[in-house]
Amino acid sequence: MEPEKIVEQLSMFPHRAVASGNETKTLDFLSGLFENQQVERERFRTPKNYIVIVLWLISGLVAGLLLLHAVPVAGLFLVIIFATMALLYFNWYASPVTNFPPLKDSYNLVVKKESRPGKKKLLLMAHWDTAPISILYTPKMVGNFRSSLKITLILMVMAEFTAVFHYFMPNKITMFALWALALYFGIQAVVATVDFFRFGYSNGASDNATGVAAAIQTARNLWDKPLKNLNVELVLTGAEEVGMIGSKAYLKKHYKEFDKNTFLINFDTLGAGNLKIINKTGSWGDIVYTNKLVEIAEEITAGKTGLEHVKTGAWHTADFDSVWFHRAGIPSVTLAALDAGGRMPNIHRPTDILDHVDFRPMNDAILLATLMGEKLNKNE
Ligand SMILES: [Zn+2]
Repeated sequence: MEPEKIVEQLSMFPHRAVASGNETKTLDFLSGLFENQQVERERFRTPKNYIVIVLWLISGLVAGLLLLHAVPVAGLFLVIIFATMALLYFNWYASPVTNFPPLKDSYNLVVKKESRPGKKKLLLMAHWDTAPISILYTPKMVGNFRSSLKITLILMVMAEFTAVFHYFMPNKITMFALWALALYFGIQAVVATVDFFRFGYSNGASDNATGVAAAIQTARNLWDKPLKNLNVELVLTGAEEVGMIGSKAYLKKHYKEFDKNTFLINFDTLGAGNLKIINKTGSWGDIVYTNKLVEIAEEITAGKTGLEHVKTGAWHTADFDSVWFHRAGIPSVTLAALDAGGRMPNIHRPTDILDHVDFRPMNDAILLATLMGEKLNKNE
């Protein structure tokens, strides 16, 4: 099946929410594309969506701030624990809050072709799940995503200090500050979740049916070539939109199999604008991708391959499945498409539908990633 057709088929589901009836249908459809190959469903546990996580974080934090006066020890404990978990989560580090109930089963789909030991390993990754609709991704709001997240992170640190101060020196001024902070975090929780309760999940034609189709086509292109030095594995992850949970579970499960010859290309949102080699992400601090794979991608786009218009790019509105691999020292890169304003139009909105998909960046990503695989195979 052609990549365009795969995007079309995936967009036929109203959404592809984690642990919904559509998850099984999506996985069945994807598995059906690999009749003569080894396809595995790797189970992991995850909250159903990030709404669950945001509600845990904010209600724990607000309860702590409000309790500080009546039951100081309990209040202080809650503020420290929940603010710290929030700081970890929103900087894309493993946070204990992702293990809070209710947890659901979700699956990564792993597809291999006979792999021989002693070769390099190239993982091709894309998330199949779609996101809760969020007001934070409207064109008006999305430009402020990183700065408003940074303000919230600063206020969380301030909440911790104010709570400690109030614990030792209870007084009216800090109490007022604590209540004001509680009100601010309460409003943030409403803003972050209101459109989910109005509209549910996105269709995800661009984010990330295009990425799934690109990863599949790249894998096929490389499997079809006799590559002496390269094993290619396709990993279609779940629960990326919950906080890159599927990719984290995959890394944890297979970490021991990986060495300095393991590489990851992640495909995310390729349905509008121009293809970018994403080399900078992160919310509070920058996460900078400088590695062999980024170098190879830049070499290819600098040459005469028809990809001269593909440049590096930055993305700071949440993060990608590649973040855990990058932090674990595995050379990784995400290929994503951004418009002229550096945005991903329509994502996490009801307008992320097939009608708005431009297939050009997806096809550029397939070409670039295929060439990257061939180059990895050749390089010593
Ligand atoms: Zn995505």
